Amino acid sequence: MSEFEKDNRDVSLKRAAELKSRIQDYLDVKDTIPVGYKIQDEYNLQKEKLLEILGGTPEDWDNWKWQIKNRINDVNILAQIIDLTDQEVEDIKRAGAENRWAISPYYAALMSKTDPNCPVRLQSIPQLAEVLDDSGHSDPMGEKFTNPAEGITRRYPDRLIINVTNQCAMYCRHCQRRRNIGEIDKNIPKSHLQEAVDYIRANPEIRDVLITGGDSLMLADSTLDWLLGELNSIEHVEIKRLGTRALVTIPQRITQELCDILDRHAPVYLNTQFNHSKEITSEVKKATNMLAKAGVVMGNQAVLLNHINNDAHVMKKLNHELLKVRIRPYYIFHAKSVQGTSHFMTKLEDGLEIMEKLRGYTSGLAIPTYIVNAPKGYGKTPMLPNYLLEQENDHIKIRTWENREMVYKYED
Ligand SMILES: *Cc1c(COP(=O)(O)O)cnc(C)c1O
Repeated sequence: MSEFEKDNRDVSLKRAAELKSRIQDYLDVKDTIPVGYKIQDEYNLQKEKLLEILGGTPEDWDNWKWQIKNRINDVNILAQIIDLTDQEVEDIKRAGAENRWAISPYYAALMSKTDPNCPVRLQSIPQLAEVLDDSGHSDPMGEKFTNPAEGITRRYPDRLIINVTNQCAMYCRHCQRRRNIGEIDKNIPKSHLQEAVDYIRANPEIRDVLITGGDSLMLADSTLDWLLGELNSIEHVEIKRLGTRALVTIPQRITQELCDILDRHAPVYLNTQFNHSKEITSEVKKATNMLAKAGVVMGNQAVLLNHINNDAHVMKKLNHELLKVRIRPYYIFHAKSVQGTSHFMTKLEDGLEIMEKLRGYTSGLAIPTYIVNAPKGYGKTPMLPNYLLEQENDHIKIRTWENREMVYKYED
């Protein structure tokens, strides 16, 4: 090596050490953040206990219809698998009487037995705060004003949503559409779905159709097959997307029959909502493998939730684990002010700090877009830390991910 090359190598080594030091804080904590497939023993114990209580077999457990039929909405069953104080039992009864709750046995088995702040518990068990909350609106996105045909929400020029059901495998405590979640399951009647399809057929600028709800995968295979087939027969519909949390709360829903249907109606995109790495289990891994083999492209739309994932390390870990199961982080939603959910809301600064600590520090693939939904349904609006400090005719001043301010001249 020449003297010159040696100097270059020294500079590079020094820079490499500096780069490693940039993520030392993350390296120190990453293995303390719970991941679903790493707590398999704990999960298996809870699974066995639940099978005993509910009277099921391991084959039943893997059957999504059994999972739905045996959803837990009785606090006495919950109290048999996790530690609850008398006060917590009373609170669950009171809050649960006003707002529907139901937890799939699979998701319940992921709960920490002892930790009331377990992210799986916080997302699924009713809390007293829900009924004490008198802030927020029931419909902050004004969905009732963006409903040009039965079952359709249209807020954008070239794409829209079909709401196919109000059913979900689990009723998330932070749900933004809780006004639609009655005590009764309502699948949209086929005549309404037909109206939605007719609207899309009559509007050639619609090239992207999102099937959601509720949870689109609560539809029967035959209905999904029919709907996807109808959409495929419309020449201007280029892609279909499924909105579903089934992958998180009931991964057993991803069967070979379903995958064959999705494969047949390609291209299909599936967007889901993992909010914490604890939700990524070996069942999820199996399901995403099947979906990937069927050519389904998967994305994640996390919701920024207080005490669950409003932490840069937790969010980074989630995004890394998602990429390992072939799900691309797509959005982080700032939680809207929906009545009954204000205990989950965070400040915008929390989201901006997460974004600041992702860009540069990790793969671009692990960086979703942070979104605030504009009031009255005026659309998703991206939020980003500021990297452009000055903008002049011949130069700009930028701030790099490491916070270096630099002048960038156009002629250089
Ligand atoms: C979120 C949403 C979409 C899809 O938005 P993308 O940014 O394309 O993912 C479409 N229609 C409605 C009504 C939506 O809320």
